[in-house]
Amino acid sequence: MSVKLDIKGIDSWGFKHEGPFIIAGPCSAETREQVLETSRGVAKTGAHMLRAGIWKPRTRPNCFEGMGEEGLKWLVEAREETGLPISTETATPEHVELCLKYNVDLIWVGARTTVNPFAVQALADSLKGTDIPVLVKNPINPDVELWIGALERLNAAGVKKLGAIHRGFSSAKASEFRNDPNWKIFIELRRRCEGLPIICDPSHLCGKRELIPAVAQKALDLLFDGLMIESHIDPDKALSDSKQQFTPEDLGKVIAGLKVRYPAI
Ligand code: PEP
Ligand code: MN
Repeated sequence: MSVKLDIKGIDSWGFKHEGPFIIAGPCSAETREQVLETSRGVAKTGAHMLRAGIWKPRTRPNCFEGMGEEGLKWLVEAREETGLPISTETATPEHVELCLKYNVDLIWVGARTTVNPFAVQALADSLKGTDIPVLVKNPINPDVELWIGALERLNAAGVKKLGAIHRGFSSAKASEFRNDPNWKIFIELRRRCEGLPIICDPSHLCGKRELIPAVAQKALDLLFDGLMIESHIDPDKALSDSKQQFTPEDLGKVIAGLKVRYPAI
């Protein structure tokens, strides 16, 4: 059954880009230098927006859980220096409030939040009357209804600059990927939500940097509207997701190697 969403296409969100919209930057903001150096490098790759996690949803306690508001200030500095808009993950109304305070240009809902309708509704309520674009990552489990339900909650709260991020799904099957691509769920989302911008996050899908270029290309071949790719100035020392981050230089090579191919019609 098709879903009626009242949304504006990504080209009307006010971000400069030609072709697929590329968001890149570290998994987590760790230090001011790491954010600024990574952002300077990312600005040379052709990416259109910076990302960095400020509040990190870690599986186990006592891991690095993000720098909070201080990290947002570093992202703001990175925007001033590079001219690129900035984005981060929000999981609570308090996160949204801080992002609005610092004029963050786009926020996304993480995969662990999309699974929880109470949390998504609280986010939606906190976004009423705002104009900030919101991307919704798929829930960690392969449940397209839950993904659509989160999009509907945000849209009903008035979020029109709305899109989705496909980052793969948890699975009990052994796989080379960290998260199962399950492309058919993405196809179903696209079929049911006409006009919804959908971005692929090959970093969290693959979990290993060597698998990322092929998955990013496949996403473009499937006509995703953009990509979100993690990059860190020194990936081996990253405090989260070290195996899936590219140096900005390697990210530049990956982006340069991507081909925008349109299917024959
Ligand atoms: C992230 O983008 O850093 C993140 C935590 O992703 P996900 O919600 O897809 O696991
Ligand atoms: Mn990450």
